[in-house]
Amino acid sequence: MTRIELKSTEQIAFMRDAGLIVADIHRALRQAAQPGVTPLELDEVSAQIIRAHGGKSNFLGYGGFPATVCISVNDVVVHGIPDDTPLREGDLVSFDCGAYIRRSGQQWHGDAAFSMIVGGDEAGSQRARRLNAITEESMWAAIAALATSKRISCVGEAVEAVTEKYREDDWVAGIVEEYTGHGIGTAMHQPPEILNYPVRGLQPKIRPGMVLAIEPMLTDGDIATEVLDDDWTVVTRDGALAAHWEHTVAVTEGGIWVLTAPDGGEAGLAPYGITPAP
Ligand code: MG
Ligand code: MG
Repeated sequence: MTRIELKSTEQIAFMRDAGLIVADIHRALRQAAQPGVTPLELDEVSAQIIRAHGGKSNFLGYGGFPATVCISVNDVVVHGIPDDTPLREGDLVSFDCGAYIRRSGQQWHGDAAFSMIVGGDEAGSQRARRLNAITEESMWAAIAALATSKRISCVGEAVEAVTEKYREDDWVAGIVEEYTGHGIGTAMHQPPEILNYPVRGLQPKIRPGMVLAIEPMLTDGDIATEVLDDDWTVVTRDGALAAHWEHTVAVTEGGIWVLTAPDGGEAGLAPYGITPAP
C-alpha cells in the first residue's frame, strides 16, 4: 500500500492558499456561466483568475488535458473539454478545476468542483434540480462524516445514505463508481483512493494531517459511463444527466477544514452540527 502524505499545520496553511484560489475561480465561473457563453470563454475566465493570484493550473497539461477547467454539460459526467458550443439556459453544467502554488520548494494543490443550472435553478428541469441538490448534499454529508468517523469508508457510506434518503418508488440517484476522490497535497492526485459507495474491507484510518478531495458524481439514471473518442469526455452510457461536487478537505487536530470553501465549510457543515477547525 502506498503511503498517505501527512501535512504539517504550515503545509495545510499553504494548501489553504491554493484552496482560496480555487474558490475564487468558482466564484468567477458562477458569475460568468450565462446562456450564450462558451466553455472556451469560461476557461479563459479560470486562467485569468489563476494568473491574477500568482498560481498555476494543475489541470492544464495534466495527462495532456488542454484547459484549466473541466466543463461537463448535461450527460457529461466529468473531464469535459471546453469547446465553443454556447451554454443554453437550463443546462446542468459541472465545473471542476484546480490550482497550485509553490511554497518551500514544493507544489501545494487545491481541487474542487461544483454543478449549476445555467440561467438559475428555475431555468432547469425538476430532474436537473433534484440531481444537483442531492449531489451537493451527498458531498457535504461525506465531508461531515470525516469529522466524526474512524475510517475513510465513511465517505461512501454517507454518499449512499443521501441517495437512499431521496429514493422514490421507481428512482434513485446513481453513484458513479469508475471515478473516485483522492488524497491531495504536493500533487493533485495521491493515495488514498476514496470510493463514493460503501465497500467491504478495511479502509485507511482518518488521521490529522490528511488532506482529501471528496467528490461524489451522481447520475439521474444508470451508473455506466463511457469515454468519448477524445479520450477525455466521460458520458453516461444511457444519456442521463450527471452532477459532480468536490471540495479539498484537511483533517486537522481539532476536526476538519474545507480548504476550497471561502468560509472553510461553515455553512455547508452547519446542518451536521460541525464547525470547521482550522
Ligand atoms: Mg476536481
Ligand atoms: Mg479531484
